[in-house]
Amino acid sequence: MYFYNMKEIKQFIGNNRDRILNELFDLLKIKSVSADSSFKQDVKDAAIFLKDNFKNIGCENIEIIETAGHPIVYADKIINKSAPTILVYGHYDVQPADPIELWDNPPFDPIIKKTDIHPEGAIYARGACDDKGQMFMHLKAFEYMKKFDKLKCNIKFMIEGEEEVGSVNLEKFINENKEKLSNDVILISDTGMIANDIPSITTGLRGLSYVEVEVTGPNRDLHSGLYGGAVANPINILSKMISSLHDENNKITIPGFYDKVLEMTESERKEVSKIPFSKEDYESEIDINSTYGEKGYVTNERNSYRPTLDVNGIWGGYIGEGAKTVIASKAYAKISMRLVPNQKSENITKLFSDHFNKIAPNGVKVKVTPHHGGEAYVTQSDSIEYQAAEKAYLKAFGSKPIAQRSGGSIPIVPLFEKVLGSKSILMGFGLDSDAIHSPNEKFGLFNFFKGIETIPLFYKYYYDLWISNKNE
Ligand SMILES: [Zn+2]
Repeated sequence: MYFYNMKEIKQFIGNNRDRILNELFDLLKIKSVSADSSFKQDVKDAAIFLKDNFKNIGCENIEIIETAGHPIVYADKIINKSAPTILVYGHYDVQPADPIELWDNPPFDPIIKKTDIHPEGAIYARGACDDKGQMFMHLKAFEYMKKFDKLKCNIKFMIEGEEEVGSVNLEKFINENKEKLSNDVILISDTGMIANDIPSITTGLRGLSYVEVEVTGPNRDLHSGLYGGAVANPINILSKMISSLHDENNKITIPGFYDKVLEMTESERKEVSKIPFSKEDYESEIDINSTYGEKGYVTNERNSYRPTLDVNGIWGGYIGEGAKTVIASKAYAKISMRLVPNQKSENITKLFSDHFNKIAPNGVKVKVTPHHGGEAYVTQSDSIEYQAAEKAYLKAFGSKPIAQRSGGSIPIVPLFEKVLGSKSILMGFGLDSDAIHSPNEKFGLFNFFKGIETIPLFYKYYYDLWISNKNE
């Protein structure tokens, strides 16, 4: 145990507020758009900015590591080989700012403005929340801990520059640097929380199987009068096959699809019911007259705890102006399946492919092409990292965080588990309304500074729990 004083960190933030904001602004001014090669030097400049900042805050072994794409910045502070090690992951690259004309202020010229949700003001800039602002909280939390001699855990930082383009070179890097990156837990702030007065921890992510299907009938497009009724129409058949993939209760009909899916526990359902939710607002926001989905589950269960199957695109035949009476030779669809923990992407893709081939009637040929996939992820709420995070939020926000699963996927998180064997804890401080990836992205000043307050608490509680766990 070590002494920890909440007042002290608030004082640190108070005394350094302007300087910290200026530093973040300098980082936000760098146009580190990873997707566009004309910004290659800017991306590098952001890496150099981080390198300098790591040096200023007292990190060691600071490196800019070149990859086949954009560089990774590494830094650490090892205080004691027998203490727990926390690896902080984040990214310094950003999404393109387009369409620029929809921004109220230039995207790389940060400005603070007040809003209803952010009465204290929010920083408007590309990357303010995703992920420069959230990642930078960790550097400033470290700076505080270093300066006030509060470091009890070893800390490693791995900040990449290719997250927004699929982390293409990260897998190779972590595979080749397992020892360097070895850790007890990975800490990531690249997600959100429910509201400023309702903190939450993301405890799960869905996996993904993605396939493209092709149904082929006759060897060429045919006259729908001369041949209509006598041959299988690939578009009709594909539509029929797709509609058969869900039953009347909106359950997916692929044999074995649910075999590995864990039923929700009572306590999980209770946790979901704590998330503030208005069905009316949800419906009116996207202009639908009713939600829709698997029988027996509510919306916030359907969109995170349950697997799904959706057609993402479908095409074939004549789609030009007017009418063309034709039976197309081919029909296509792209289909995604969001998976939940225990379902394996490769296995689900195979189950889909077998089933899709099996239900194809005579008269057509079927081809299934797998695209990318990824595994689901879950953190147990009885793990020490979850409990440490829960305590940290409780102390910093004054209320217990809600455990919330996300319906989306962050492929690097299961990848870390596979390669490094370590769990990640997702402590996000952004809000859904922060418009990440969209024009007018922002990050609340409250959220930014609350993050800097909460992170050292996480280290404290993690250390305490780790030690007592070890001594048991
Ligand atoms: Zn991000």
